[in-house]
Amino acid sequence: MKISILTLFPEMFDGYLNSSIAKRACEKGLLEVEIYNIRDFSIDSHKKTDDYPYGGGAGLIMTPQPMFDAIEKAKQNKPEAKVIYLSPQGEKLNNTMARKLSSWQPLILLCGHYEGIDQRIIDKLCDMEISIGDYVLTGGELPAMVLIDAIMRFIPKALGNEDVHIEESFEDGLLEYPQYTRPSDFRGMKVPDVLLSGHHENIERFRRKKQLEKTKRMRPDLLKGAQLTNEDLKVLGRQEK
Ligand code: SAM
Repeated sequence: MKISILTLFPEMFDGYLNSSIAKRACEKGLLEVEIYNIRDFSIDSHKKTDDYPYGGGAGLIMTPQPMFDAIEKAKQNKPEAKVIYLSPQGEKLNNTMARKLSSWQPLILLCGHYEGIDQRIIDKLCDMEISIGDYVLTGGELPAMVLIDAIMRFIPKALGNEDVHIEESFEDGLLEYPQYTRPSDFRGMKVPDVLLSGHHENIERFRRKKQLEKTKRMRPDLLKGAQLTNEDLKVLGRQEK
């Protein structure tokens, strides 16, 4: 998967891309990331990339010229690339979107700063605006890393274990069941017996029950879209279908 990142702070990506799974995905060629420093594209004599908003108001807005030139450069060898602006005003990121984007390649991610970017960049060049949540961050770099991380999990072979996300939270519309590892008794806190029993059917039933209980407690909104059996409805204390 090819991703181009347009940012004023390229160094913010060093730690993320040089660690853990992202590093391994880059080394294996599963993920190819190019970073463009937007400032390098500014034709202003002081390499300025922002200016005051027309109509007044607080803060500075990123100007169109450096962004347009940087996007055109990033698109040069991949005109089919989709351009995504990370923005608190965008569609909220979720797992379904991340999976879809993993097959959309290549992607160009725009990281805004200050009070955001000139609207003409969005109107003319962006295919999509994505938000990572209902809060405002100081820049689009962390959201871009969050987006890459969420997408990368769906790139075949990136995780090493192909089945790992099948059982992850949100995959079947529910949160994941609780997980335990060795030792079975830690400071008197014991792993539920059923998980040590080797009885697969009982383990599955136990996990499903815990998933349902946790989703009901933490994210009842998810239950509306989940595929629920009559047994699930009983666990939730609801009427059978
Ligand atoms: N004035 C903008 C508004 O009210 O919508 C917020 C600008 S924010 C301070 C600066 C930059 O951070 C944005 O251009 C965007 O790239 C990024 N950003 C902030 N919060 C974000 C979020 N929740 N999701 C994605 N990007 C975000």
